[in-house]
Amino acid sequence: MNATIKERADKVFMATYGRYPLAMVKGEGCRLFDADGKEYLDFLSGIAVCGLGHCHPAVTAAVRRQVAELVHVSNLYYTLPQTELAEKLVAHSFADKVFFCNSGAEANEAAMKLARKASEPQRFEIISLIGSFHGRTLATVAATGQTRFQQGFEPMPLGFKHAPFGDLAALEQMITPATCAILCEPLQGEGGVRPLPPEYLRGIRALCDRHGLFLIFDEVQTGVGRSGTLFAHQQLGVEPDIMTLAKSLAGGLPIGAMLAREKIAAALTPGSHASTFGGNPVVCAAANAALDVILGDGFLESVRKKGEYFRAGLGKLAAKFPAKIATARGMGLILGLVFTEEGAAKGGEVVAKMMERGFLINFTAGIALRFVPPLIVSEAEIDRLLAALGEVLAEIFKAG
Ligand SMILES: *Cc1c(COP(=O)(O)O)cnc(C)c1O
Repeated sequence: MNATIKERADKVFMATYGRYPLAMVKGEGCRLFDADGKEYLDFLSGIAVCGLGHCHPAVTAAVRRQVAELVHVSNLYYTLPQTELAEKLVAHSFADKVFFCNSGAEANEAAMKLARKASEPQRFEIISLIGSFHGRTLATVAATGQTRFQQGFEPMPLGFKHAPFGDLAALEQMITPATCAILCEPLQGEGGVRPLPPEYLRGIRALCDRHGLFLIFDEVQTGVGRSGTLFAHQQLGVEPDIMTLAKSLAGGLPIGAMLAREKIAAALTPGSHASTFGGNPVVCAAANAALDVILGDGFLESVRKKGEYFRAGLGKLAAKFPAKIATARGMGLILGLVFTEEGAAKGGEVVAKMMERGFLINFTAGIALRFVPPLIVSEAEIDRLLAALGEVLAEIFKAG
């Protein structure tokens, strides 16, 4: 029962999560089932982690095979699954070298350590953007451009600055002889599904080139097919020097990756950085299987097609409630329905009412409903979500 699991859990967990009173017991494709047997259509995917849906047969088979063969060895030794995964990432990206870890925050930590190590000793500052999210470790919280994640944990580590979103002149003014890198997400996920305009990204690239800085893209949420291309920056015409991945890279298993060009990566020498679990064979086998599906014929094209279809549907909903909904935005299958200030007060209620009806979505940054369904979602499932959402919005907003 949901209630009994919740009661037991609330006694023993630190209250770091504001959780819904549901305990999930099974997942299959785009569907999740709770402990009371209720079915949900999952448009959250464990926050963009289950990119191929729940228990994708290719991922499950790969994990089964590898878990019976070899579960863990130290990174003092080589393994084939992690070698294959690194080869695939290099073959399909700007990067020459890869480092594996276990989460998005760890990947960003690795990226920032590399940026510092590969720069002249006097350069250590990292500039990120207001509204960004880069993780929950001390350094990634310091890089995150939202004070609510920092409060109570001060003092923050030194060497982090935040530039106002969209303002190239302000960003350039923050660059000093101590700056080593600019860190940003091509689309801010936790920041309200907010894409960086391509001309802004190109401007950031130009600033990095002019001032000799590394450009780090945090593609933890946007990467691995979510945006409709393997990496979001590939459709924006801007290449980073360093990139981080995590969330959906291993089809639901925990992984992080940091990628860079050879010249920069050479700064990390034996013993300079490490992870005990990073590149675990089981996790890498899952990632290899997931990537094979995503890189398969027509898959990314279908993500783009379904994303356009979904976005058009969200746009129609936005047009129906102009006083409450400002716009529909996003890339591929990371989409947001952005409320006006007036509408935003009802965001939590929309999520709760959708959950009652059997649809999982979330409300982010106090401003946008976020939709990150499994990339295998069908147009029929998108239609069901849109129909239910239309009814819920009408109920809430017509009632005032
Ligand atoms: C989720 C997320 C992170 C943090 O990832 P964890 O695996 O929770 O550490 C970092 N950056 C972005 C853009 C994210 O969406």
